[in-house]
Amino acid sequence: MKQSVTEHQSPHLDLTAEATSIIYEGKSEFQDIVIADTPEFGRLLVLDGVFQTSDKEEFMYHESIVHIPLFLHPSPKHVLIIGGGDGGSAREAVRHEAVESVTMVDIDGQVIELSKQYFPQISKAIREQHPKLTVRVGDGIAFMREAKNAYDVIIVDCSDPVGPGEGLFTHEFYQDTYNALKEDGLFVQQTESPFMHRKVVHDIFVNVQDIFPIARLYTAFIPIYPTGMHCFTMGTKKYDPLIWTANRKRTFPTKYYNEGIQRSAFVLPNFVKDILYGEKDR
Ligand code: SAM
Repeated sequence: MKQSVTEHQSPHLDLTAEATSIIYEGKSEFQDIVIADTPEFGRLLVLDGVFQTSDKEEFMYHESIVHIPLFLHPSPKHVLIIGGGDGGSAREAVRHEAVESVTMVDIDGQVIELSKQYFPQISKAIREQHPKLTVRVGDGIAFMREAKNAYDVIIVDCSDPVGPGEGLFTHEFYQDTYNALKEDGLFVQQTESPFMHRKVVHDIFVNVQDIFPIARLYTAFIPIYPTGMHCFTMGTKKYDPLIWTANRKRTFPTKYYNEGIQRSAFVLPNFVKDILYGEKDR
């Protein structure tokens, strides 16, 4: 009998990946964890039934959530990653010469350990104990509450707004994020599919806009996420991605990101503008 893993993307839509083997199936203190080898995506991480990342297409997500905010900031010395337990965002962040320190805070130590064991490429910076990287196991919400004026860029690489990730999508959390940033800091968060999660995308944007002088949204293609069209919400105190000009040279190769995408990712289809601003801004 063929094995498979399924994400129930909505009550009416499933994504099922055939699996050549189920590598790990267990339960941590916080979530159900499944790791499977699949012909289409390679090795796949599933948390609480939601596809998180996979060996074959992870570069699309990790390069989008890391390089776009880091290249927007002219001098991103100190970076905080909330979540990101697989290590992909940390791996991309330490590649920037301008970055001096990366602190990663994930609530689930078991995700980190399993990623080290089963996703050696994605977790490379954690496995090799990269000198710029500090890994902490703890609640990102509590960590953010305590941090003040400390980071140039904050990357919220979280799971969906259910379970342990729920509190990472509140007005209070965005206020704490604002306070944790330096005076010209900026933050980004993965914020689901604009096609499938319109209300979530709208509500997050309204909250971020309420706190940050500049709120923007950008999109990327992520094959394993609902609809394949994913969005990221950005709150920034000073630097506006809509008037970006290259401020330093990229010194490493990428598979998804390039300087054209730094600009074009923020060009939104009208139905997405409608979610954010209503029909008036067409
Ligand atoms: N790329 C993924 C996606 O969008 O599906 C997310 C990757 S990463 C695996 C998400 C991580 O967020 C998980 O490892 C989970 O443990 C972590 N997480 C969830 N809630 C958290 C919280 N309150 N504080 C810190 N980390 C949290």
